[in-house]
Amino acid sequence: MSDSKTIFEKIIAREIPADIVYEDEHCLAFHDIQPQAPVHVLVIPKRRIENVASLEDGDQEMAGKLLLAARNVARQLELADRGYRVVANCGNDGGQSVDHLHLHVLGGRQMKWPPG
Ligand code: AMP
Repeated sequence: MSDSKTIFEKIIAREIPADIVYEDEHCLAFHDIQPQAPVHVLVIPKRRIENVASLEDGDQEMAGKLLLAARNVARQLELADRGYRVVANCGNDGGQSVDHLHLHVLGGRQMKWPPG
């Protein structure tokens, strides 16, 4: 993992702006800058973890809190009734472009399967 701050750490530190929709002690959520659906929010842990692959057993509580934060965001943005998708891209083949664990919460349209 590189020592330099990721764009998401800069958002956590309020060094660059983001359209923040949710924050709690452990997580932050903000609108994706290139939305792929009518609602596209990223939910991130405030502590830097690179991705799902780098989670350790001791991260169990944080990982659960991240998932619950995604649920809270979906409720807050009124996606829960219609449904939505939660995605974590991991590594090169997974299409991950920012090396800070994040969940994409996508909603407001019918999702397709399989993803590209
Ligand atoms: P991934 O490709 O899964 O790593 O997702 C990274 C996401 O971060 C992409 O959907 C980008 O559009 C989004 N993104 C990159 N920079 C920003 C930013 N400054 N504010 C909000 N979203 C961003």
